Amino acid sequence: MGTKILIIEDEKRVASFIRQGLEEEGFETAVAYDGLIGKKMALSQNYDMIILDVNLPMMNGFEVCKEIRNHNASVPVLMLTALGTTQDKLEGFDAGTDDYLVKPFEFKELLARVRVFLKRTNHAVLQTNILKIADLEMNLDAKTVCRAGKNIELTAKEFQLLEFLMRSKNKVISRAEIAEKIWDITFDTGTNIIDVYISFLRNKIDKGFSSKLIHTHVGMGYILKES
Ligand code: CA
Repeated sequence: MGTKILIIEDEKRVASFIRQGLEEEGFETAVAYDGLIGKKMALSQNYDMIILDVNLPMMNGFEVCKEIRNHNASVPVLMLTALGTTQDKLEGFDAGTDDYLVKPFEFKELLARVRVFLKRTNHAVLQTNILKIADLEMNLDAKTVCRAGKNIELTAKEFQLLEFLMRSKNKVISRAEIAEKIWDITFDTGTNIIDVYISFLRNKIDKGFSSKLIHTHVGMGYILKES
């Protein structure tokens, strides 16, 4: 079975440029020229990845992404935007996008992102990749997290953040490091997105357990460790 990628892009020239390039690389593609049709296609078929323009007729990319996330949390979404500002990035991440590509871009940049995404979701990996701290376990291949044997559902962004914390366990991580590593933004905008996501994670992995794993170091950042 081939890898199927849905392209939602109203500019016909850009859509066919992406489609052609991907097909030459051996991917199967489908194209939607407005947000509403794109959303319907995304929800009615299984795609391995979605490339989504922000400015679309009928329904914009942020809304489409939210709808997709409401129905299928795991399909990777790469957003295309002419706007590269922090605010737009935050809005997109808030809507559940996994990454951004700012227009104009070269096809090889797009292809590199596509390959990274598909590798992340490729389950045919021989070696099991597991990160562990106390009774918290993250399976990097299956993209699952469990604590004390209990399965925990995380969004793509929460998973990325927890993976970063787990890879740096017992080390204080500053908000600036998290902003740069996970959101690819500079931490100077007074945004509280990191605190918000940390509290999402706390609710999911620490709530209800007597020993907490996520700790705040006031004025310094966060640390994942056994208390
Ligand atoms: Ca557009």
